[in-house]
Amino acid sequence: MSIHELPYLKDKVNELKEEGVYRKLPVNTGACDAVVDFEGKKVINLSSNNYLGLANHPRTKKAAIEAVEKYGVGAGAVRTIVGNMDIHEKLERVLAEFKREEAVMVFQSGFNCNAGTIQAITGKGDLIISDELNHASIIDGVRLSRADRAVFRHSDMSHLEEILKEKRDQYNNILIITDGVFSMDGDIAKLPEIVELAEQYNAMTYVDDAHGSGVLGESGRGTVDHFGLHGKVDFIIGTLSKAIGVVGGYVAGKQVMKDWLLHRGRPILFSTALPPAAVGAIIESVTMLMESTEYTDRLWDNAKYFKEKVSKLGFDIGHSETPITPVIIGNEAKTVEFSKRLLDNGVFVSAIVFPTVAKGTGRIRCMITADHTKEQLDEAINTIERVGKEMELI
Ligand SMILES: *Cc1c(COP(=O)(O)O)cnc(C)c1O
Repeated sequence: MSIHELPYLKDKVNELKEEGVYRKLPVNTGACDAVVDFEGKKVINLSSNNYLGLANHPRTKKAAIEAVEKYGVGAGAVRTIVGNMDIHEKLERVLAEFKREEAVMVFQSGFNCNAGTIQAITGKGDLIISDELNHASIIDGVRLSRADRAVFRHSDMSHLEEILKEKRDQYNNILIITDGVFSMDGDIAKLPEIVELAEQYNAMTYVDDAHGSGVLGESGRGTVDHFGLHGKVDFIIGTLSKAIGVVGGYVAGKQVMKDWLLHRGRPILFSTALPPAAVGAIIESVTMLMESTEYTDRLWDNAKYFKEKVSKLGFDIGHSETPITPVIIGNEAKTVEFSKRLLDNGVFVSAIVFPTVAKGTGRIRCMITADHTKEQLDEAINTIERVGKEMELI
């Protein structure tokens, strides 16, 4: 076979097929709502991160259109050249107010916020200590840093302390990084304990709150607000792509952090600023959250309803504390099969398998949103029960 046919990749793809984990991308032909249209077939959507239903809300859409009318569709350059518009500045002010922090630096996505921030704030002679279940973008960000790294067992505070005790004296700065809400299990980081240990050992803390922003805390202000830890977490990362409903990422914290990132945050220096439509829509989303708790109230009401019912059916829903509801099946192929059969029966829940989660812990991950009606949730629960019984999972 010619090298141009990429035989080594063909072999790898064939392996995926043999393992039963090869999948084609589903195609949504409309907006990301509680019900989506998969090429003519309407299915209940239990897979999106659009927690609050803001991705297709009349107010956010209107704000996006108005921003396009005034600013066009592209920022035209990186922010440090000519891509910095007054709406980017406004967005950062609004987000800082929402997060109750001194300053916010916005990035083009949550992923590149982690990739760009971690390497900019750490260096040779520093140590990064990271929870083993942290998001892939944190792992990549850590890889880009010249600091040394250590990993602590998931939410295991005695392991974290062991590392701190052993390594503290060997390094200049120590940065402890954790997800705020762990995306595959829905559990919340033990932030008060982490902050206490950090203070005890003179370390800094970094929380990636992608699944906590718009979900936890007062009107979705996040995990730091949920625990009342304002001023004690040094770097608070959020995404604008999930509950906020648009795209982008940010880090909230001290003004001096922002000053530094403006000079050394590589995605700020080398990647074009967020498009005006996205910025306009995000400002509107955050404004809506500051005006009312109705979105987060509805999200939590729906999540509690769904979790209680699915758990009562006899499924293992792990130890989630948030609207993320894993239904743990175990075997990878069975998990993929379960998800496929649910889709055939009108419910879209994606299968999450190795390497996204550990081998043998395959699950369908149900994402409950404020947008679901109780009727839609009931229909989904009934289908999960029926297919689960057919496959002898319950
Ligand atoms: C989704 C996610 C990201 C990436 O955010 P995007 O804005 O989608 O790039 C980063 N960290 C965590 C923990 C996430 O769940």
